[in-house]
Amino acid sequence: MTAEIKGFCPGVATPMETGDGLLARLLPPEPIPIQAFQILCAAASEHGNGVLEVTQRGSLQIRGLSAASAQTFADVIAALGIGQDRGPPLLTSPLLGIEADGLIDSNTLTSALRIALARRPNIGSLSPKVSVLIDGGGKLHLDAVPADIRLRAVSASCFELGVAGDASSAVRLGQISTEDVIPTVGKLLAQIANQGARARAKDLLSASHEPAPFTRRPTADSIGLHLLRDGTVARGFGLAFGHTTARTLIRFAQAAADRGAISIRPAPGRALLAIGLKGSNAAEDLNAIARAEGFIIETTDPRRHVIACAGAPACASATLPTRQLAPAVANVVRSLVGTEKIVHLSGCTKGCAHPTPAAVTIVGPDHWLLNGRASDAPQGTISPSGVVAVVEQLCAEYP
Ligand code: SF4
Repeated sequence: MTAEIKGFCPGVATPMETGDGLLARLLPPEPIPIQAFQILCAAASEHGNGVLEVTQRGSLQIRGLSAASAQTFADVIAALGIGQDRGPPLLTSPLLGIEADGLIDSNTLTSALRIALARRPNIGSLSPKVSVLIDGGGKLHLDAVPADIRLRAVSASCFELGVAGDASSAVRLGQISTEDVIPTVGKLLAQIANQGARARAKDLLSASHEPAPFTRRPTADSIGLHLLRDGTVARGFGLAFGHTTARTLIRFAQAAADRGAISIRPAPGRALLAIGLKGSNAAEDLNAIARAEGFIIETTDPRRHVIACAGAPACASATLPTRQLAPAVANVVRSLVGTEKIVHLSGCTKGCAHPTPAAVTIVGPDHWLLNGRASDAPQGTISPSGVVAVVEQLCAEYP
């Protein structure tokens, strides 16, 4: 049940081989009830190595499973009924259907679409990377998250449809009503599948298609307080460098439940939302606990400007202990707060943690480059013990 194919997307039923065992990725389209979340974390601890990650687009990754334990873990997740292992990945706004200012008032569409996608036999040859996105039109939107097919609610019964990109790079195709969503998405997926097993939505477009971006909205940030329709609140926290331990999450989930939360949702930006807290006092209370657990509670935390892959020793390909270096690196990048600049610590040239260009990239074993990807040509050499000093110097010299 494992895969090492380049470009493969690891699911729970099809985990991927990494340096520290098998990695399973879960993309929950709905919030996870607290108790189910705690069972998931306990299973990650028992069957994996206890390291959990939230990715930039809000997937939950479970590390360190073994060939023997991965199936048992998958069985636990299937019994919990969370995540989705059949059909294209379905990305949804983290607070879809419950956000105070959202335009959709329930998750009914998501559930129906998820079932329809899993059942469609004629999209069997679709690339596993092809994704569908539903944005509920609220403040915590998904404009920065790319998808093959994107739907943004513009009213309670109408969606703007686009393909191939994030909100600023996609091609808008027009508006459709809620009842047309499932057949339209099905047709588009079938058209993509007809282009070949590796085809993506961009392959449906001709050279004459100019990007037709969606209307711009203020940047969404999961970290912070979010008002919900039922009068409760959700509070978002960042995971430092995108990872934590299962035991930490079990404690955190219990603390959230003690303050009224009913569910947890991984969210874009390597974040977690505690949903259903009984007002801002309960959220403030949880802030203190989250801070003590090492979570990011403020949008201005410099750790948000450092992205580190699993690195050595977790990943067999790594030649740099990226996550061990990350806290010290974060201490010297305060000048980046308020910008969108990123320092990327990559254990090798693959650059899995940040495939797009970063302001500064450090690549194991021994080089750095500016405004590029980990696979780009080196611009200077470095020793592991000199990483922090070089990042500080580069951030000062090339602000
Ligand atoms: S970038 Fe390289 S070292 Fe880092 S996780 Fe990916 S394969 Fe491993």
